[in-house]
Amino acid sequence: MNISGTFNILRLLTNPSLCLPHHTISTFDQLPIPLSHAFTKRNGSEKTKNPDIRAIVLDKDNCFSIPKQNEIYPAYASKFDDLKKAYPGPKLLIVSNSSGTSSDPSHIEAELLERNTDVHVLRHATKKPGCHAEIMEFFRSRPETGVTEASQVAVVGDRLFTDVMMANMMGSYGVWVKDGVVPDHGLLSRVEKGCSSFLLRRGYVPPEPRSDFE
Ligand SMILES: [Mg+2]
Repeated sequence: MNISGTFNILRLLTNPSLCLPHHTISTFDQLPIPLSHAFTKRNGSEKTKNPDIRAIVLDKDNCFSIPKQNEIYPAYASKFDDLKKAYPGPKLLIVSNSSGTSSDPSHIEAELLERNTDVHVLRHATKKPGCHAEIMEFFRSRPETGVTEASQVAVVGDRLFTDVMMANMMGSYGVWVKDGVVPDHGLLSRVEKGCSSFLLRRGYVPPEPRSDFE
């Protein structure tokens, strides 16, 4: 059970825009690289500056991998390689709610995932969306990432109530992989999609990313 998820869903009642992404793609292979290109804003005909995205937090299940598997979905291999080249070493961090958590005793799955992807997998005690402090601690402990504030981080994932909500709670950018690797017709997925289209129709917008030092 994801206690962090259940508790944090209550936050949506007071601040529903926390579940809205800054950019939406259908599947992982549509991810713009560099990711800052996903967040270009337009003021009328004038384009404003792209944000300075220095590191990426990547969800696993139904984002770049079939749920419960620990390997890159073959059709996304070249996009995954491009992402690693653009965000080398600790600039790319996998944060899953299965591998690397209490659901993965001894972190055997996390080790397998690291071998298969050559990307670091965060070991975290609290599940998404509650582990933003652990994520920022990781980036700050690796000065080569250049991350000094949460608004320099983008979170990519298929769940609005975990991945995207965590991005907004951190003060980062959220990219929603709406359709994922395999179709998800589960209740949670339908509730998420219903909520986001309801909010967008009513003119809600995602929160503006900000420095977590403020
Ligand atoms: Mg996922």
